[in-house]
Amino acid sequence: MQPAASAPRPLDIAGLELAELESHLVGMGAPRYHAKQIFAWIHRRGVTDFASMSDLPKALRARLADTWTVSTPALIRKDVSTDGTTKYLFQLADGTRIESVYIPDTPAQTFCISSQVGCAMACAFCLTGKMGLTRHLTAGEIAGQVRVLAHDLGLAAPDRAFNIVVMGMGEPLHNYDATMAALRIVGSEAGLAVPARRITLSTVGLVPAMERLGREPFMPNLAVSLHASHEEQRDALVPVNRKYDLEALIEACKRFPVARRGRITFEYVLLKGVNDTPDDARRLVRLLDGIKGKVNLLPLNAAPGIPFERPDEDRVDAFARILADKGLTVSVRKSRGRDIRAACGQLIVDEGVRGARAAKVSPAQALAEQL
Ligand code: SAH
Repeated sequence: MQPAASAPRPLDIAGLELAELESHLVGMGAPRYHAKQIFAWIHRRGVTDFASMSDLPKALRARLADTWTVSTPALIRKDVSTDGTTKYLFQLADGTRIESVYIPDTPAQTFCISSQVGCAMACAFCLTGKMGLTRHLTAGEIAGQVRVLAHDLGLAAPDRAFNIVVMGMGEPLHNYDATMAALRIVGSEAGLAVPARRITLSTVGLVPAMERLGREPFMPNLAVSLHASHEEQRDALVPVNRKYDLEALIEACKRFPVARRGRITFEYVLLKGVNDTPDDARRLVRLLDGIKGKVNLLPLNAAPGIPFERPDEDRVDAFARILADKGLTVSVRKSRGRDIRAACGQLIVDEGVRGARAAKVSPAQALAEQL
C-alpha cells in the first residue's frame, strides 16, 4: 500500500530576511508590501500567529497559517541571578538546547546570544568548549533568541534600546552565514532595528572569516579572544592558533576596517600563573602596538573540570596597570550571574539533551553534564 501523501512541510520564515520574505510572497502571487507587515508582526511585535496579523487580508492570513510557520526557541527555564543577570534556557525544534543571557544595566541592557549548540574550538578554559560541537544554529534560531528576550523583557519598543553581544555558546564566525543573516534580521528597520554599533561579535580569531566580516555592509563591532601574548602559549590555550596563529591574527586585526572612532576589543582571560605575569602584560602591549584596540581582561570564571584558577585581585590589578600605563584602554570584566552559571565560558546545557535526534553527546559533554 502506498503511504498516504503527507502535507508539505510548512515554510519556516523565522530566519528569512525581509527581501527573502518578499520573494516568497511574490512567488505565491501575493503583494510584496505585505512582507514588511509580516516581518514587523514577528520581529517588532513578537506575534507569530498569522491569524492575529490584523492588517493583512483575511484570505492571506488563512493561507499563510496553512503554509508557513515561525519557529521560535521554546523557553524551558529562566534563572535570575542575585545581580539581576538572567539566564534563558531554550529548547530547539530538534530537542537540542542553548542558552542566552540578559545582563541588565552595564550601563546599557545587554543580550548575550549563542551561535552554535556547543562549540568546536575547544579552548582549554571554556566549559562550552568541553561539549564539542553538536550543530550550527540557523539564522532563525539566532535571531529568535533576541526576539524572545526583547519581548520577554519589554525591550522591543522603539524607545527602548539594548546591546547584543554574540558571546554565548559557539564560535559565530564558524557559523558565518547564519550569524550574519541573523544580525541583519535583528538590525532590519522593519523589525527590531538594532543598529550595528550596538552589536559586538566575539571571535576566537578565524582569520579568513574576519576578512569577510570586514567587507560586510551591516558590520558589528569586533571582539577578538586573544588570551595569550606568544604563539606557544596561545597554541596551548586556544587550539585554533595552530591553524591561524597569533601573527596572522594580529595582521588581520591591523587590516580590519574599524569604524571611525571604533576599536577592536581584545579579550584576555587571566589564568593564575599561566598568562598573568608582568612579562605577559608587557608582551601584550607590544603585540597590540599600532592597533586601534582596547583590552578587556576576563579573570577566569573557574568551574569544575577546568584545570585553571582565577588569579587574585591584586594580580589582575597589576596586569591592568601595566597595560594602562602604556596607554592602552583596559577594563576588567565584572563577572555577572556566576551564581546561576551564566558567566563567560560557563554556558553549557547541563541537564542532558533530551529527545534529540541530532544531538551527539561527546564524552566531554557527558562529563560536563555530570558536573
Ligand atoms: N567563540 C567566541 C565567543 C566565546 S565566549 C570567542 O571565542 O570569542 C566570550 C568570551 O568568554 C571569550 O573571550 C571566551 O574565551 C571567554 N571565556 C571562555 N571561558 C571562560 C571562562 N571560564 N572564564 C572567563 N572567560 C571565559
